[in-house]
Amino acid sequence: MDAIRAESIVKQFGQVRALDGVSVEVAAGELFFLLGASGCGKTTLLRCIAGLETPTSGAIFFGERDVTKLPPHKREAAMVFQSYALWPHLNVERNVAFGLEERKVDKAEIKKRVGEALELVHLAGMGDRGIDQLSGGQQQRVALARALVVRPKCLLLDEPLSNLDAKLRIEMRREIRRIVKEGGLTGIYVTHDQEEALSMADRMAVLNKGQIEQLGTAEEVYRNPHTAFVSGFIGETNLVKGKLLEVRGEFAMVETAAGPLVGRITRPEWVPEAGEDVVLSIRPEAWRVEAQSGENAVTGKITERSYLGQRIQYVVKMPIGQQQVVELNPHLVRDPGETPVRLTARHIDVAVLQA
Ligand code: ATP
Repeated sequence: MDAIRAESIVKQFGQVRALDGVSVEVAAGELFFLLGASGCGKTTLLRCIAGLETPTSGAIFFGERDVTKLPPHKREAAMVFQSYALWPHLNVERNVAFGLEERKVDKAEIKKRVGEALELVHLAGMGDRGIDQLSGGQQQRVALARALVVRPKCLLLDEPLSNLDAKLRIEMRREIRRIVKEGGLTGIYVTHDQEEALSMADRMAVLNKGQIEQLGTAEEVYRNPHTAFVSGFIGETNLVKGKLLEVRGEFAMVETAAGPLVGRITRPEWVPEAGEDVVLSIRPEAWRVEAQSGENAVTGKITERSYLGQRIQYVVKMPIGQQQVVELNPHLVRDPGETPVRLTARHIDVAVLQA
């Protein structure tokens, strides 16, 4: 396993600057996610790391080795694509063996390594099957085995699960994490699916317009978003506009349409000033309905309700705009109507962000 380091990567496609000075370091053995909306540059960054694109400027290191100018097959990184790109006329074993045959590895060694790779992806004994006799999830496992058989140090995955149905996706999330960890690989995984990232990643980078907007563990990024974009991209949130009144340590009081609300400044390097326009990010589950006591109390009226068993989602009309509210483990189902409800949110659960 190798650490992977990208330094100040710029990638220009004609007029389009797909990557605008991206620096990131992925630790050896880490499963790292690149997340972002369509067109933010995540696939381009992965392709630069794989060697399928050459950066306009910047450098890529695998361990201490500068691989910026090396072709893909000399980087000891294997890539798994969204379309599995399997050969339909070859059986499972031949599909997995393909890369080794091209590298002229001897037959006995190929047989041994294909067996090991199929075992790792839990397809042992299925080598004779035709590709068209496999389910979508099994085909994805073959694609993984084919990547692993060359014994890469790094596994690069580009939206590998988007062609699977919801249930299989969840099963394969666990499998991919297991394979990366058991195989002692460094993994970089591109997705626009925040749930996939939250459930699998050791750390993640959220990209926006060719730049990294925030980098951290799932918990850090979810609980301490640094920008309104990140708070809306990772998880659901309510954004409330306001003007900063006062800062006390890491907390700030903000004037809003519902009066002053207090929140936490989540971006350490930002020093806001009184009078500045700011945005509050309040997660749906941060709002508590009719708590006996509580911070940041605001009254509103429930306009919509969806009962989902272990949680209820409400839409509540408030002076600060419509708020999405989620109540976990509900023991009382409230009806939409005219009766005012009181919502509270703890100061530490409200993020104060730059407008
Ligand atoms: P998606 O989730 O849609 O795959 P992405 O975040 O992976 O998006 P990229 O594929 O990296 O985005 O593309 C980033 C930008 O670079 C986009 O504006 C895209 O149109 C542009 N781009 C990517 N590849 C090329 C290319 N070969 N030629 C010209 N422009 C390109």
